[in-house]
Amino acid sequence: MITFESKIDSLIRLKEDTRRALNKLNIFTVKDLLYHYPTRYADASSFVSIANLSEGQNATIRGTIKKIVSKKSWKTKTALSEAVVEDVSGTINVIWFNQPYLAKMLGIGQTVELTGKVSIYKDKLSLVNPNTREEKTLPIDSHDSLFASDKDGVLTPLYKESKGVSSEWFSHAIARALTTIENIPDHIPNEILKKYSLPSLKSAFIYIHNPKKFSDALKARKRFAFDEIFQINLARTLEKQKMQKEKAYSIETKSLDIENFISRFPFPLTKAQEKSIDHIMKDLEKDSPMSRLLEGDVGSGKTAVAATAVYATVMNRPGAKENKQSFGSLQVAYMAPTEILATQHFESFIKYFEHTGISIALITGSGCRKFPTKVASSQTPWTNISRSQLQKWIANGEIPIVIGTHALIQKSLSFKHLALAIIDEQHRFGLNQRKSIAKKDSHSPHLLSMTATPIPRTLALTIYGDLDLSLLDEMPKGRKQIITEIVLPNKREETYTKIKSLLQEGRQAYVICPRINEPDPELEKAVIAKSVTEEAKRLQRDIFPEYKIGVLHSKMTKDQKESVMEDFYEHKIDILVATSVVEVGVNVPNATSIIIEGAERFGLAQLHQLRGRVMRSSHQPYCYLFADAKTEKTKERMKLFTQAKNGFELAEYDLSLRGTGELTGLKQWGISDIGMEALRNTKLVEAAQISAKELVTKDPELKNHPLLKETVKLYEQMHFE
Ligand code: ADP
Ligand code: MG
Repeated sequence: MITFESKIDSLIRLKEDTRRALNKLNIFTVKDLLYHYPTRYADASSFVSIANLSEGQNATIRGTIKKIVSKKSWKTKTALSEAVVEDVSGTINVIWFNQPYLAKMLGIGQTVELTGKVSIYKDKLSLVNPNTREEKTLPIDSHDSLFASDKDGVLTPLYKESKGVSSEWFSHAIARALTTIENIPDHIPNEILKKYSLPSLKSAFIYIHNPKKFSDALKARKRFAFDEIFQINLARTLEKQKMQKEKAYSIETKSLDIENFISRFPFPLTKAQEKSIDHIMKDLEKDSPMSRLLEGDVGSGKTAVAATAVYATVMNRPGAKENKQSFGSLQVAYMAPTEILATQHFESFIKYFEHTGISIALITGSGCRKFPTKVASSQTPWTNISRSQLQKWIANGEIPIVIGTHALIQKSLSFKHLALAIIDEQHRFGLNQRKSIAKKDSHSPHLLSMTATPIPRTLALTIYGDLDLSLLDEMPKGRKQIITEIVLPNKREETYTKIKSLLQEGRQAYVICPRINEPDPELEKAVIAKSVTEEAKRLQRDIFPEYKIGVLHSKMTKDQKESVMEDFYEHKIDILVATSVVEVGVNVPNATSIIIEGAERFGLAQLHQLRGRVMRSSHQPYCYLFADAKTEKTKERMKLFTQAKNGFELAEYDLSLRGTGELTGLKQWGISDIGMEALRNTKLVEAAQISAKELVTKDPELKNHPLLKETVKLYEQMHFE
């Protein structure tokens, strides 16, 4: 009997090259086959096979990019992109003149439709400057591009092809699968399907692979989108439920003079900070662990909120509420992604805690420090200590506050009474690292994650469904408004002159080189590294000969990066030429201007984060966008950017204007294209979240939903980073 899990050979005899092609696409079972959705619906007879093309013919082909490069023709110096495109019948060369960015937009493996005249170029049959259409798994709400025409008519599904397996093969094999399998059990409970008018799994497969009408295909896509978002939510909700069963130290916050601690800050808290502190204090009082994400733009003051949580924690003694020990205190681990950040936090914590006499330690790969120092001759308020000594003091509970890098989660380090774990810039850590800092002994620590990555609400609800959210959506008062300018090519010089005058006043600057999309991440790093290095050379030679310029990019080792950042921090470097790696929270208040090259190629939220780098002091900050703002759409986006003040707002714009592709890191979260597009649909995401919560409330172990329990396991292992 053929089932969902059967191997494809049991359904259909496979030629060796078909098998190879399928395996390459990760298709092994009937189930995999059914989940291989068409990328588009069109009349397949309108395409010409590559093998049948002849010179002079006007034709549309559909194929996959095998190779693509951009270069300059050495004779005429025009930029061109050159590709080899393949369908099942053969390959053809494709040349685009004056469109060097095509090679960066289209990647290897991308399916394209090309329409143009077939001609001879460099002795080979070629398509020159064809009309180019990228074929993606398209958004659920843009059926206009999902279908070839706007009339219900021939709706032939088109699948991504590769050598050995054609679109027709898929149609045929899938049709056979759908008629052969008797029963496709649905993992989504029937009530939920009914409530949201979603088709059953079997109908959805039929609708998506063989729609009679547009609306069928759309219904199916909606079901699969809901399915995915629902399961992610379910996995997060189950995780949360599991966490809530664990025991945490209940922290007494009311009796403490938290007001007094806060009143020593050299600034009044923002309303958003007050509210977040309030959330956190309520969480800490509970005897189940807090799981909270504090999200706020760069400079919104997350550290002060964290410091208050730390204060409340370390002022508590271990033991049950009624039965506190009279000695020792609860401990806090505060993890930052880089040594510089950890060191900066150590220094600001010394200021926050000086008056309390509480000990603070710093642990990083390159050494350990302890505050306060007992060494009378010390130049600093802290001393270097040995790792083994520090380990001892942490293990016996003598040091309440430990700040550090990954070094904090090494096995050799154990806490006596770890009550609170704080993760700064949490998106920089993997789930496993996050879990291992929250590892329990008798008690699980409360967990406070912090991030400056602005993500839209729908995405936050989904991937951080196990966390409670606090937002710092308000900047501290008194900051100078940043001056953001779009710089046209003929105004470059003026900008450089302005930057020079700022450098003259003793300030520092960033120059960010554009994002370059290469399908191969290693290649991408190499290309960007090259452009950063070349731009630094050019600036040094032609524009800023009298200033010291440093470079920073992701091809460099962690140590190299740290050392450059250190030099920049200490003002041994005036201008840092970098890729977007500088996004992450290093605080160099003296850097007050930033140039972003190729600004139109960044997402708005990312631009905003880059801009945040220079908004850290009372000096007037400047952001210059060097953008190729030819199209109205680009102008519109750039204008939006100069006006918006808040990263969340911009993340929402990114999502609605340009789709989820703009949300950095989404791919690595492992959400499918359909799932990603669903994130544009707030109602769907909320429905999925509510359904997941309701289900877990009614059936916490999923005892009545064994199938769902099985499928959701996949999502439990998903890494959200
Ligand atoms: P981030 O959210 O990026 O981690 P920080 O916590 O590093 O921000 O704060 C950035 C700067 O703003 C620090 O110098 C901090 O002392 C200051 N700051 C924090 N909160 C306030 C506030 N309410 N008013 C004024 N300045 C503040
Ligand atoms: Mg920070």
